Amino acid sequence: MSDELQIDLFGFTPEIPEPLPINNRTSKDGSVHFIYEERLKKSIRCRKKKFEEIYELKLPGYMQSDEFFPVREMAAQWTHLAFKRKTAETKAKCSELLSRIWAATNQILSDLNLPGIRSVRLPPIRPIGKHHNLEKVFQAVNETYFHGELNARITWSGRAGGLSFHTIRKDPFTGEEVNLISISRGYDFENCPLYAVAGVVYHECLHIVIPPEVKNGRRIVHGKNFRTCERRYIYYEEWMKWHKEVLPKNVRKLLNDEK
Ligand SMILES: [Zn+2]
Repeated sequence: MSDELQIDLFGFTPEIPEPLPINNRTSKDGSVHFIYEERLKKSIRCRKKKFEEIYELKLPGYMQSDEFFPVREMAAQWTHLAFKRKTAETKAKCSELLSRIWAATNQILSDLNLPGIRSVRLPPIRPIGKHHNLEKVFQAVNETYFHGELNARITWSGRAGGLSFHTIRKDPFTGEEVNLISISRGYDFENCPLYAVAGVVYHECLHIVIPPEVKNGRRIVHGKNFRTCERRYIYYEEWMKWHKEVLPKNVRKLLNDEK
């Protein structure tokens, strides 16, 4: 997943992207070999093999997955730069690349909910919006559809895009795992009926009870069972209509206001 605007969460685009055979052992041009180390969390190390134009780059283990392809390519560029003569220009380029590498990494880590990848930080939890209080919506959905048994923190998303998501984070204070639901601010509009907010909250709650399946090495987030359960939401049709017709406009407004 990239940082671009994502309005669709519910399968209006094909669920499974074209399978791209991505090689995660070397960079695209073959000049940098990747080695993965589980103990690396937020660092990368490189060395040059003696007498050869081959570089070895150690990356954190989680960077093996396809989503990190662009990050690996940037890291490969960084490796080449790191062995160039240290001029002010190469130094500036190196640090610019590094900051892009870690910004992209943080983004991917927070967008994905891969097993074994747990972001340490929790974002600020801000459930009270201009028009809707997510905490109340969550309580109602939890009571109605999940016997009040779900544990989650819910917040309006800090980003302007249309993305709502569920992730598992570690509470930095207690060390416990926390379900975090983040809802697009495109739902915090006067034109957004309660059934639509409740719809997206219900969808994210379902992710807590229906974890992604892995089939043929692919992660399926919205599988058949998920879709069936999703339709149990009493205002499913109305919410979907709103989601398709109104949400994109609201999100566009948010993005324009940001400029
Ligand atoms: Zn989803």
